Amino acid sequence: MADYNAPLKDMKLTLNHVARMPELAQKPGFEDASADMVDAILEEASRVARDVVAPTNREGDEQGVKLQDGKVVCPESFAGVYQQYMEGGWGSLQYDPEYGGQGLPFLLSIPVMEMWHSANMAWGLCPMLSQGAVECVELNASDELKAQYLPKLISGEWCGTMNLTEANAGSDLSVVRAKARPDGDAYRVSGEKIFITWGDHELAENIVHLVLARLPDAPEGVRGISLFLVPKYLVNADGSLGERNSVEALSLEHKLGIHSSPTCVMGFDDAVGYLVGEPNRGLACMFTMMNNARLSVGLQGVSISERAYQQALEYAFDRIQGPAVGTKEAGPIIRHADVRRMLLTMKTLTEAGRAIAYDACGSLDFAAKADSDEERAIEQARAALLTPIVKGWCTEIAQEVTSLGVQIHGGMGYVEETGAAQHYRDARILPIYEGTNGIQALDLVGRKTLMDKGAALSALIEEMRSAAAQTDPSLTAQAKQLELAVTGLEQARDLLLNGAADDALLPGSIAYNFMMLAGYVCGGWQLLRQANAAVSLIAAGDDDPYLTAKQESARFYMAQILPRWKGFAEMLEDGSQSIMALSEEQFSSAWQ
Ligand SMILES: Cc1cc2nc3c(=O)[nH]c(=O)nc-3n(C[C@H](O)[C@H](O)[C@H](O)COP(=O)(O)OP(=O)(O)OC[C@H]3O[C@@H](n4cnc5c(N)ncnc54)[C@H](O)[C@@H]3O)c2cc1C
Repeated sequence: MADYNAPLKDMKLTLNHVARMPELAQKPGFEDASADMVDAILEEASRVARDVVAPTNREGDEQGVKLQDGKVVCPESFAGVYQQYMEGGWGSLQYDPEYGGQGLPFLLSIPVMEMWHSANMAWGLCPMLSQGAVECVELNASDELKAQYLPKLISGEWCGTMNLTEANAGSDLSVVRAKARPDGDAYRVSGEKIFITWGDHELAENIVHLVLARLPDAPEGVRGISLFLVPKYLVNADGSLGERNSVEALSLEHKLGIHSSPTCVMGFDDAVGYLVGEPNRGLACMFTMMNNARLSVGLQGVSISERAYQQALEYAFDRIQGPAVGTKEAGPIIRHADVRRMLLTMKTLTEAGRAIAYDACGSLDFAAKADSDEERAIEQARAALLTPIVKGWCTEIAQEVTSLGVQIHGGMGYVEETGAAQHYRDARILPIYEGTNGIQALDLVGRKTLMDKGAALSALIEEMRSAAAQTDPSLTAQAKQLELAVTGLEQARDLLLNGAADDALLPGSIAYNFMMLAGYVCGGWQLLRQANAAVSLIAAGDDDPYLTAKQESARFYMAQILPRWKGFAEMLEDGSQSIMALSEEQFSSAWQ
């Protein structure tokens, strides 16, 4: 087995039978997304991911990045990889043809992005941040800025970054201190940003920073933050590059994982910048980018899980250790029941996460192409509800999956040689950046559930019930298990809606358990949909073992993974009681 093989069959089944790709291809403007075109794009992306990107993963981890003479030096192979990515037009799939995009569905870019992240997650962050920047500029910037910056960002000739975090402003961006002052038609931006992913490098000829800063006399808090576009090199009227702007990487962080992704402290010293959107509305503009990025980070969870699974599976076939039950000869460890438990846990969590992520992304396309305001609102609310689940749950399960990947390797998993440890280290950032999972959970219970009185969640619950009701008779037992879990989610919804008014601490106290419960239930729903699709394809004469494996995967998930919902449901019943019981003094009372 090669280092990484894209799971094309699972990607296609998910696109076609979960995320509604064939229906999307009927929408005006998406005619090019025919089944043949989708297949061709996925096949070619899979080749590039396997042959070009994946071989750089280990080397990137070992070489890391350095700041030398004011320049960020990346692993040697990255320049060539980025060049091929750019020349292949991979960054332009889903964007507006007016700015050089290919006008394909956003959904189609998702399996492609999954492949980059599986192949090399640290490298994949570079195009991922650029895509978020494109979206932010496309939706919020003036026509002039769009004309000047979008074509080069979309082609990949320039890269984008996202500059929110400061030393004192992480989860709470209301206290951002970076400043901007008007200067003729432009602005001058000053301040220091930390943890900026791919904040500087030489892979692209220019870098477009999107920076949150305060205008003079801006009100305190989130309503006083504006968004600025600050290029590394100024751009002349004819589009050519001009002077170097006064923005630079001051230092690089030394991190647990993603060693080849430069995480920069960025200094802006009266740098020329351009306002994006309205003054003091910067956070709202940045949210367009953050929503995209949150889905992408959830997808990274799926990607790294897939890579860890493939590696563990290969090892489980190769490693000979002890005879399996009923045999005398030592055999590969895949024959041992506990190893199978771990492999199936990895496989089914990954496939469930993939389906939730693709489905959420598909809803964004359906919203964009909706025939009515009502349809648009439904799809938008569905995507918005699923976003914190994709980000939160898919990155939490990535911790378990990559840890199991280490476990399956035994002692060899703990040493760096096999690469299993790298996936585990790399995955650890996912619950932290792009809004910690604590913040995602609060978003799910607050903005996405309490704010609309549970409307979007109730619609999703109905969708799950109807999927369970329409299940093929051969999957009745699994459908019943799902129905039970859906009822558990419904009860959790009611507990939240009924209890929040009387106990202000309730939403925050139950948020994480609520998010995990919702994630496991959504995972069961999606695996059941996939298993149903597999039954139909088998009935139509397809004898691919992938399809029968999908049915068995659903059976395993319902029996061995889905029941976790009960634990989360029981824990959230406790409300804020035990969580908030200890005084701050009591926390440290044991050693004081
Ligand atoms: C490798 C890496 C790359 C990054 N890339 C970027 C980037 O490109 N651009 C960028 O702008 N930032 C980036 N970040 C920053 C990242 O988004 C922040 O680290 C993250 O948002 C958390 O902020 P913080 O580190 O200040 O943690 P804090 O906000 O201090 O949080 C600490 C803990 O408290 C919890 N917490 C905080 N507030 C609340 C609350 N209200 N309710 C419940 N719990 C709460 C958090 O969940 C967390 O567990 C990156 C960080 C890293 C490590």
